[in-house]
Amino acid sequence: MKYVEEFRRHDLAQQLADAIGKAVDPDRQYNLMEFCGGHTHAIFRYGVQDLMPPNVKFVHGPGCPVCVLPIGRIDNAIQLVEQHDVILCTYGDMLRVPASGRKSLLRVKAAGGDIRMVYSTQDALAIARDNPGREVVFFAIGFETTTPPSAVAIRQAQAGGLGNFSVFCNHVLTPAAIQNILESPELRTMGSISIDGFFGPSHVSSIIGSRPYEFFAEEFQRPVVIAGFEPLDVMQSALMLVRQLNEGRHEVENEYTRVVTRAGNIKAQTLVAEVFELRRSFEWRGLGLVPYSALRIKDSFGGLDAERRFDMPAIAASDVKGCECPSILRGVKRPTDCKLFGTVCTPDNPMGSCMVSSEGACAAYWSYGRFRQSGTPDARESAA
Ligand code: SF4
Repeated sequence: MKYVEEFRRHDLAQQLADAIGKAVDPDRQYNLMEFCGGHTHAIFRYGVQDLMPPNVKFVHGPGCPVCVLPIGRIDNAIQLVEQHDVILCTYGDMLRVPASGRKSLLRVKAAGGDIRMVYSTQDALAIARDNPGREVVFFAIGFETTTPPSAVAIRQAQAGGLGNFSVFCNHVLTPAAIQNILESPELRTMGSISIDGFFGPSHVSSIIGSRPYEFFAEEFQRPVVIAGFEPLDVMQSALMLVRQLNEGRHEVENEYTRVVTRAGNIKAQTLVAEVFELRRSFEWRGLGLVPYSALRIKDSFGGLDAERRFDMPAIAASDVKGCECPSILRGVKRPTDCKLFGTVCTPDNPMGSCMVSSEGACAAYWSYGRFRQSGTPDARESAA
């Protein structure tokens, strides 16, 4: 298939692996964080880590929208169903994420809660039109990629006078999270996992462009390469990062030129700016409160904001005891560092969000089973 198979060619992967092997300085370590869960899965699915020299290590970041949502926000969504009798519309990934008290949206649905899995915001609007006597709330999550469709739905609902529809907004912003990671004292002081460079997100960057990363590339002196999601994209981007680090450069480069431009999708950005504004701070699982890292619905669309329509107090909730999701999302631990991994916690019985989502690091480790192979960096570390 054009634009897919050509980015998975074995012969080209081997050439890139050879080029990276020749480019690396054997006397230094290259810790490269892939922010996106999509990159994490490409790395595991295609065995990209196994093709890297031992001193090039991928560090998994917080770029999984389901994983970073704190439990308290899921508890809020459950309250909407249980206390306000709304029809809650949600993407499928959210259904199985554990909430407080061993609940999840799936369990609440099984107990009779009216929770509907949708594939788009348009599905949620259709449910609202079909149920004029019920309140319908869309549980909006995701990074900059999923924000424009939420903006479209809010505008359409306002224009169409759809009075029973509202949005529980949990949209978060990538650059603020990367900056938070770079400012983290934990990552600065723990030398073995300090991050030398970043793979910039693919889909997010198709919306916001490559320009927003320029500030922290310069400020924190870390190179960023916007990378596509196919294995050759990841390998080519790894080579570009290695070359920048060797040459002492810290620039934003774009490997994913077939989709991403410096300015991004102006139409989508304009739409988002019309409907949303910055929150002063927002809690991320793993990162805590991050300033200006999420969006809220503007006053001009305030009637469609579920947080204003319903009483939704902030809920402080903790992760399941022993779950290392917060540390994994910060890049300071790996799934195999969690004692529950593969024993108590599996995709069939997830204890934390990182095992639920198709973009979560624990799900990637488990699904592709590479932690079981001898010779992989994890296996070598465990054996040491
Ligand atoms: S293996 Fe399960 S419990 Fe452990 S960090 Fe991952 S999601 Fe949490």
